Amino acid sequence: MILETFPVGPLQCNCTILGDEGTGEAMVVDPGDNIPQILTFLAQHKLTLKQIVVTHGHIDHIGGAARLKKATGAPIMLNQNDLPQLAMMDQQADWLGVPTPEIVLPDQSAEDGGIIGIAGHTARILHTPGHTEGSICLHFGPENLLLAGDTLFAGSIGRTDLPGGDSRQILRSLRESLLTLSDETHVIPGHGPATTIGEERDSNPYLQPGVRL
Ligand SMILES: [Zn+2]
Repeated sequence: MILETFPVGPLQCNCTILGDEGTGEAMVVDPGDNIPQILTFLAQHKLTLKQIVVTHGHIDHIGGAARLKKATGAPIMLNQNDLPQLAMMDQQADWLGVPTPEIVLPDQSAEDGGIIGIAGHTARILHTPGHTEGSICLHFGPENLLLAGDTLFAGSIGRTDLPGGDSRQILRSLRESLLTLSDETHVIPGHGPATTIGEERDSNPYLQPGVRL
């Protein structure tokens, strides 16, 4: 398996490329920016992009998705509960002080329990609302890998003070969905360093028993 994560754009969103050497198929998660870098990586590894997945509708995660689709023809998946985030893209761009990126509607909604991915490497979609209403995580079972978007970070959790955010909901998502995964699960968050479910279960202040937000 080819697995590459690098920060993109002014907010340093973690973009992840997952590919298979055997089939030459790839998926890209959260192409917020740096589309030329993503295309160069795909070309260097002779990968054909099959799927673009966006963990939620914030500009730093979805900002390059339309450009990447245009360059590769790969369809975009986003949970339909985050369509209101796309309608607010001008406002999101204003907060960052950047021009509004071209946005296209997703080709398919990433629904809870759905199986997505490429030949040989599939993930189960976990709908984990709280950071936004349509936030998702991707769990690759055999690979023991979680792409967590902005729901869980090393030592922290996603902010819930933006439109669509809900602090009770994110705690419920974390406890009922992510903390049911095994301690060994390798976590690649939407920003910052990688971690594991076990590490976060033990030391993340937001995940301790009795915490309320
Ligand atoms: Zn976000």
